[in-house]
Amino acid sequence: MEYSAGRSLRCLAFCCCLFSPGLLLAQPLTVIGGSGLQKQLVACIEHVAAKDLDRLPGADHSMTIVILEHERFLQVKGSFGAQRTKLAFSHLSTRRMYLSSHVFRDLDTALRCIPHELGHFVTRSVYEGNAEIAAGRIRTRAREVCIFPTEPVPRHALSSQLKNSQAPGTE
Ligand SMILES: [Zn+2]
Repeated sequence: MEYSAGRSLRCLAFCCCLFSPGLLLAQPLTVIGGSGLQKQLVACIEHVAAKDLDRLPGADHSMTIVILEHERFLQVKGSFGAQRTKLAFSHLSTRRMYLSSHVFRDLDTALRCIPHELGHFVTRSVYEGNAEIAAGRIRTRAREVCIFPTEPVPRHALSSQLKNSQAPGTE
């Protein structure tokens, strides 16, 4: 009887290891800056892409997303030499994404820019076309699961640049 009790204990320990939080949270995300709703939206869209991000080589799939006031964003992008971008850019080797607060001016802009940047990470590519192919899938899913009854910012008239096929203001 003692023997079988011991076996049960070992089984319990093994099962606990299988379901430890560390294994479930394979891809930790840190969001710096932004309001509570902005953080919530970013985290939700990133979560949509988490499975793709987890498939990338290497053990560390952590990611940091930095939301900056637009003036500060302009300074930071200058220091990274990301001159062409208007609203967002990503630094793949440090697994950091930088977003201007203007990304959140309406939901459509957020749903164009954030999946586009995640597309760069999923494809590990600096090329816009590659990023957009991955972004399309993330965008569709994000529209389904990340739109809250209270939207972070109102939908309103979109600027003409939003009509471009590529996510505007992103690099
Ligand atoms: Zn891009």
